[in-house]
Amino acid sequence: MAMEAKPHAPRPTAELLDAAHRHLLGNYRPAPIVFTHGQGSELFDSQGRRYLDFCAGVAVCCLGHAHPALTRAIGEQAARVLQVSNYFFNEENVRLAEELCGRTGFDRAFFCNSGTEANEALLKLVRRWFHEAGRPRVRVIAFDRGFHGRTMGALALTGTEAYRVGFGEPLAGVEHVPFGDLEAVEARMADDVAAIVVEPLQGEGGVLPAPLGFLEGLRALCDRHGALLAVDEIQTGLGRTGKFLGLEHSGVQADAITLAKGLGGGVPIGALLVREALANGLPPGAHGSTFGGNPLASAAARTVLRVLAEEGLVEAAARKGARLGAGLAEVAARHPALCTGERGQGLLRAITLTDAIQARDLLPVASEEGLLVTAAGPSAVRFTPPLVVTEGEIDTAVELIDRALTRAER
Ligand SMILES: *Cc1c(COP(=O)(O)O)cnc(C)c1O
Repeated sequence: MAMEAKPHAPRPTAELLDAAHRHLLGNYRPAPIVFTHGQGSELFDSQGRRYLDFCAGVAVCCLGHAHPALTRAIGEQAARVLQVSNYFFNEENVRLAEELCGRTGFDRAFFCNSGTEANEALLKLVRRWFHEAGRPRVRVIAFDRGFHGRTMGALALTGTEAYRVGFGEPLAGVEHVPFGDLEAVEARMADDVAAIVVEPLQGEGGVLPAPLGFLEGLRALCDRHGALLAVDEIQTGLGRTGKFLGLEHSGVQADAITLAKGLGGGVPIGALLVREALANGLPPGAHGSTFGGNPLASAAARTVLRVLAEEGLVEAAARKGARLGAGLAEVAARHPALCTGERGQGLLRAITLTDAIQARDLLPVASEEGLLVTAAGPSAVRFTPPLVVTEGEIDTAVELIDRALTRAER
């Protein structure tokens, strides 16, 4: 047998990291870990190490890794057809639209490939809808520390100034007010506001649930001024918070929502869902996406919806989330020098930190213990396990973060 490397023989990790540092742009700060495969809530790296994955691709892999139903659906769809373009229909996409509308009570869907694209579509739809109605409005109110994506339109909605540095004038017409401050919103509201865009729980901003009554207050302000209430469910949707939509904790009805992250279970897809009243917000030619609604992503998303229902994963997320929350609260109480507490909903939770440590600095300590978590802002360590996580895995994760905090204290 020839001794030369087969094309698919794994590259030595050090060599791969070296190539990464030379050829990938430096916009991320990845840990020096190369993952090769996963199973359920576990990931395995190129050194053969095993990790409990409470990052899950940042709240994306809701069915865990290598879920047999999702793997099969993707393979079968790939063997039929991957892409047909929006010059035509494809059955998976039409059925996905129907099923998503059925599940959420919305009427119409637009599909794209990511969260930021879903919010771009949202922004364009709300403005164009008022334009079509003959009473143009462009003002949009969003929130400090809100996160809506990184393309120029979505970035304008994102409420973190640092993300805008050096990119020129942000999109005109978008204003930010403190999250949870109804009076501040009321002070800005007028009959020229097109929409309020809000997360029911700020994910990237620090795993911060909207205060009680806040979303109801926004709804009332929108109604008073003829504005639209648009809710970014990209992180909170698909059962992550223990309800199918984060909004359901309040009972508030939105005019439009955006979904992405968990929707494809790891296959890129984003969606904008709107009420029938907004159906003419994007007339023919007003917006589009080459890959949007492709059969592969649509088949994956349909499988996610089916498995969430079949395995009762949304209700389970509430139950498991309560267990995770209780465990994290205990851990936080055991490390008062580093932790201030625990917060979140369902399986979207965080331990909050004192000024003694930055969330980002705890991540490598946790990963050395075999636990993958993420930072949500400077002072929240975020836990977003797959919704298929077991109670035993939750208990293990709690033990591992306890150990990591003990090590960080020294
Ligand atoms: C992740 C996220 C986005 C952006 O999604 P991408 O797929 O990264 O573009 C937008 N809004 C919220 C609430 C998110 O959590």
